Amino acid sequence: MTLVNKQVSSLYVHIPFCASKCYYCDFNSYVSTSDVMDRYLDGLDRELELVAASYQHEPLQTVFFGGGTPTIFDARQSERMMQMLHRHFRMADGVEISVESNPGTVDLDKLHVLKDGGVNRLSFGVQSFDNDLLVKLGRLHDRDAVYRSWELARQAGFDSINLDLMFGLPGQTVETLQSTLKALIELGPEHVSAYSLKVEEGTPFYTWYERGKLILPPEEDEVQMYQLVMDTFRSNGYEMYEISNYAKPGHRSRHNQVYWRNEPYLAAGSGAHGYVGGVRYINQKDVPQYIETTVGGKRPVVDTEEITEVMQREDTMILGLRLLEGVTFARFREKHGTEMLDVFAGPIAKYRERGLLTVDDVGVRLTPEGIFLANEVYAAFLGDE
Ligand code: SF4
Repeated sequence: MTLVNKQVSSLYVHIPFCASKCYYCDFNSYVSTSDVMDRYLDGLDRELELVAASYQHEPLQTVFFGGGTPTIFDARQSERMMQMLHRHFRMADGVEISVESNPGTVDLDKLHVLKDGGVNRLSFGVQSFDNDLLVKLGRLHDRDAVYRSWELARQAGFDSINLDLMFGLPGQTVETLQSTLKALIELGPEHVSAYSLKVEEGTPFYTWYERGKLILPPEEDEVQMYQLVMDTFRSNGYEMYEISNYAKPGHRSRHNQVYWRNEPYLAAGSGAHGYVGGVRYINQKDVPQYIETTVGGKRPVVDTEEITEVMQREDTMILGLRLLEGVTFARFREKHGTEMLDVFAGPIAKYRERGLLTVDDVGVRLTPEGIFLANEVYAAFLGDE
């Protein structure tokens, strides 16, 4: 059996800085000074050079600057960031370059620099249009900041914008979510990611939850909210193509589809994870250590894990079932040189019988009922069932 090892053509770059820390956030992000950010860019420049030299890669098809808040950089730093990308990597025609941002962290200068640097997709962490909820989440922006940043982005010529949304928030009701959805539909972004809140260990939310001070909506409300989110976007011209992602035609995130299709990608930046040649690697998370290592001319990789063929097959199923198109038999065969129904006959039959998976000539996907129990279905593909 031969593994088809597709050449890598995607890059994730992590920018670990934010203006403040949201109460629910367990991402790798820190409040820092402009001086540290400059030194981080020195290190990132070296790391990108080393990453580009370490792997055989094709011209990049997708690049994603995530965070943190990459637009916390000023216009000069943003320009450096774009220049170093183009200095070390060749871009394919039609490359998708995305930058994550938060409302209130952009101005026209910065947006023009990003646009001139090839960025063609912006993603704003809006989360809600309800000012009280935004305060409860520890977000720095309010509803007006969303509108201002949105206007600036459109003015700078961005015509593919994602807005991130959260539901299942403390004190949120189905009705208040409805108002947020109405405001969002009125803006008309090309793409929306809508996730339910997860209370992660090590966050202020976790502490408050443990002490009984964070009251979340009951589970039945959360289910209703998810249904409302799906119905709203579907009836307003969005295609639900992943269990939490909705796009107008032609605006699916190509970069995120690389992850969901279990394809390889390069990664740079502190705490970033890459996946190349069947090996996952993880970078140093600590920013000062990351800077010291990279400025010293070394790659900041602290851990690597070889993903066995068995694990790769499981990943193909677990990640691929997030997509509404599911996992096709042809893609599974091409990636793994074997038949999906031979490897996963047990879990597929079991969850098909329960009405959570559907199987046709093309492949396997979640049913509308399966979408609500997706985590249970994914778990069935891990290890022997
Ligand atoms: S803006 Fe995003 S990355 Fe930054 S602290 Fe808030 S949730 Fe975390």
